[in-house]
Amino acid sequence: MNLLDSRTVMGDLGWIAFPKNGWEEIGEVDENYAPIHTYQVCKVMEQNQNNWLLTSWISNEGASRIFIELKFTLRDCNSLPGGLGTCKETFNMYYFESDENGRNIKENQYIKIDTIAADESFTELDLGDRVMKLNTEVRDVGPLSKKGFYLAFQDVGACIALVSVRVYYKKCPSVVRHLAVFPDTITGADSSQLLEVSGSCVNHSVTDEPPKMHCSAEGEWLVPIGKCMCKAGYEEENGTCQVCRPGFFKASPHSQSCSKCPPHSYTHEEASTSCVCEKDYFRRESDPPTMACTRPPSAPRNAISNVNETSVFLEWIPPADTGGRKDVSYYIACKKCNSHAGVCDECGGHVRYLPQQIGLKNTSVMMVDLLAHTNYTFEIEAVNGVSDLSPGARQYVSVNVTTNQAAPSPVTNVKKGKIAKNSISLSWQEPDRPNGIILEYEIKYFEKDQETSYTIIKSKETTITAEGLKPASVYVFQIRARTAAGYGVFSRRFEFETIPVSVAASSDQSQIPIIAVSVTVGVILLAVVIGFLLSGSCCDCGCGRASSLCAVAHPSLIWRCGYSKAKQDPEEEKMHFHNGHIKLPGVRTYIDPHTYEDPNQAVHEFAKEIEASCITIERVIGAGEFGEVCSGRLKLPGKRELPVAIKTLKVGYTEKQRRDFLGEASIMGQFDHPNIIHLEGVVTKSKPVMIVTEYMENGSLDTFLKKNDGQFTVIQLVGMLRGIAAGMKYLSDMGYVHRDLAARNILINSNLVCKVSDFGLSRVLEDDPEAAYTTRGGKIPIRWTAPEAIAFRKFTSASDVWSYGIVMWEVVSYGERPYWEMTNQDVIKAVEEGYRLPSPMDCPAALYQLMLDCWQKDRNSRPKFDEIVNMLDKLIRNPSSLKTLVNASSRVPNLLAEHGSLGSGAYRSVGEWLEAIKMGRYTEIFMENGYSSMDAVAQVTLEDLRRLGVTLVGHQKKIMNSLQEMKVQLVNGMVPL
Ligand code: AMP
Repeated sequence: MNLLDSRTVMGDLGWIAFPKNGWEEIGEVDENYAPIHTYQVCKVMEQNQNNWLLTSWISNEGASRIFIELKFTLRDCNSLPGGLGTCKETFNMYYFESDENGRNIKENQYIKIDTIAADESFTELDLGDRVMKLNTEVRDVGPLSKKGFYLAFQDVGACIALVSVRVYYKKCPSVVRHLAVFPDTITGADSSQLLEVSGSCVNHSVTDEPPKMHCSAEGEWLVPIGKCMCKAGYEEENGTCQVCRPGFFKASPHSQSCSKCPPHSYTHEEASTSCVCEKDYFRRESDPPTMACTRPPSAPRNAISNVNETSVFLEWIPPADTGGRKDVSYYIACKKCNSHAGVCDECGGHVRYLPQQIGLKNTSVMMVDLLAHTNYTFEIEAVNGVSDLSPGARQYVSVNVTTNQAAPSPVTNVKKGKIAKNSISLSWQEPDRPNGIILEYEIKYFEKDQETSYTIIKSKETTITAEGLKPASVYVFQIRARTAAGYGVFSRRFEFETIPVSVAASSDQSQIPIIAVSVTVGVILLAVVIGFLLSGSCCDCGCGRASSLCAVAHPSLIWRCGYSKAKQDPEEEKMHFHNGHIKLPGVRTYIDPHTYEDPNQAVHEFAKEIEASCITIERVIGAGEFGEVCSGRLKLPGKRELPVAIKTLKVGYTEKQRRDFLGEASIMGQFDHPNIIHLEGVVTKSKPVMIVTEYMENGSLDTFLKKNDGQFTVIQLVGMLRGIAAGMKYLSDMGYVHRDLAARNILINSNLVCKVSDFGLSRVLEDDPEAAYTTRGGKIPIRWTAPEAIAFRKFTSASDVWSYGIVMWEVVSYGERPYWEMTNQDVIKAVEEGYRLPSPMDCPAALYQLMLDCWQKDRNSRPKFDEIVNMLDKLIRNPSSLKTLVNASSRVPNLLAEHGSLGSGAYRSVGEWLEAIKMGRYTEIFMENGYSSMDAVAQVTLEDLRRLGVTLVGHQKKIMNSLQEMKVQLVNGMVPL
């Protein structure tokens, strides 16, 4: 910034030369006729020159360091003839500070700035050439403290022409940097000084940290600190803040620019700091304004339930519309419904939810401690972060279930009453969860350490007196309750001691003879047992007609146990057992209808006669060996109408066929368990002869699994297996050996409850297409049958356990045929040599181990069904134990796998491979997307599968596992157990 430029001053400069004959002004004009203020002096020939040229007062305009630029020419003394002794080639520059414009300054008051020498001086020659060698020198002065100053040029005998004098200071020019305005700033006094300058934010901008910059002595802006940002609703454009247009918003000064309103929101205003959600869309307080407005999710889908006695397992898939959010969770509402009145109540606090009722992240839950035999409605509601902002929009799916019969919980509270030398009285309370009406209690007791010889008393009351005890002896008591669902488990052991003879001698006179162990009182016992078997299963059947065959005992039954009515209470029954002559702890014992001379009699012992008019046949659902199997409805008077399956006996049957047909009902009618197909009754008095059973919506398990390949969770599969094992435990406790346990003989209902079916007599195996004649002539389903049963017909519950292992394998492999297409002969040979089926794909290690245990050669080493049930219960309670899968490499090297769908990887085409793993439906998609060779397929990732539209997790797993296996080098040889 110029304070003075001698070349631009039009008029008189007003400088003073002293003495008068020293410096003189040459009044020249330039080509524009502007005066050129040039001062010159050239007293080189004279001694003691001291010529001063004094400028007028120059304001420093607040600058504390000023710069002086001089342009001048100087004569080379050497080029002067003669004057060398006095000639000088320099001059001096001075200044004097002053606040005001006044003169009278003595020369000695001036302060010297510098001696100025020429870079180039000129000679005579130059003059001749008219070449002016102009020098430019710049000096600076500071710090200045007054308002202005004078300059002075002292000549001491040189030949100088001062062509121009420019006086200026430097400043950092006003600038807008980071949306802050920094004003014009005069540089500091010191040449190395940085001046800190604060900026001010431009319009519509704000700051977190005040903006600052530094002005250097050279007039440059350096080191910016802090900045301004356009406030919410404004964005930066060319150093200014511009308003956000309608439809755009900026929520915070920290955002860079205005953004378009996110989906499902809008704004019609300028300078919007947020957008408004469209109708039915919401934003949570914690949602960022840049997030789309969202809505509550739609209802969960495909809810399925699995009822296990008084537990219900629910599973569903996430809603089709998550409302645009990721925070979907589920809430379970439980209602207990009275189907007759059509009213529902809240379930109350007794129901437990595993893992919880609210905020479920997973798509499954288990409800336990429900009431037995009760209709429940569960509403599975999907909620997300905005559900509570739209309380009207509950989105749920309802599942109606009926809990099964469940055995009562154990009796816990047993108290002793009167104790004498030969008797102990006990009382107890009903179990916490009776799960039905308690029909009676069974009290088992024995002398301590004499467990093999015990007595059982049955009582309808909650008190008993055990008599005929030894004095001064400790007796162990265990009590269990029975409902229509069967017996609960025994209570813990309670020990009580009879008093010694001496103490009791005077008071106790009543000597009841001890009932001998192993006494055969067959007829009496028989009457009781038969009466017991009939309870609740017969006498009130038919549409208005009672069966005349009720309560007929069969004389040919023989029991090897003693029985006597307990004296003190006609309701109490008492039996003695010794060394397991009678199976324990059987609820009842199965009676082979063959032991009846007249099979018709047997069927009416165990099956209700139903009047044909009570049955409506609706459609044919299958073909049985004796005729069609239909579905229909049964309406008995005073009862709810039930869906039923009806097996018919075709016309023209022989007497043997009729007997065999009804034989199944005679067996089925003896069973009462949630996992055994329930017999409603038979029609024998009119034609066609029919067997009516409960209806199982999903039909036989093998077909059902094949149809739903890969669709279930492991927990669901284990739930099915648990049901089958529970049914088999019941059968084995009853002493019934099934002989043809296979997935095709299990039925499954809409709640995925599995029930054992297909009970027969000699025909058991005859109508099974899987049963093959053995060398000994009998028909046996080889692939399902234990080796000892094939070899020497040793059919036992242990051989049923073997078959159960095969059923496990069928279930986990979704209905795969055991041993695939191997011939029966090869199967027998391989099994005999110790080879076993390999683990199915994705099989939890715990399940495969259980299968292998069931396939122990030594039948006594196989687990019992109650152990299997316990084991599966444990797995269900602790689902993480199912996470460890049998790994592919340890699974595959069994040659038996070669017969299956998983070959050694030698597939000729993608189609062949997909077909082999039953994923043929994807062949076209694979081919269309460039996976046309096995080499290309080997590169497929899970991501790729999803992209290809393979969305079912089961299918993804199947394909990925098969790929994995193909990569594993297969060992071509059998690996024995
Ligand atoms: P079965 O003669 O018992 O093998 O029955 C033949 C077919 O009829 C079975 O494979 C089932 O598909 C069907 N079926 C039999 N009983 C029932 C039932 N209680 N509920 C539904 N379907 C059944």
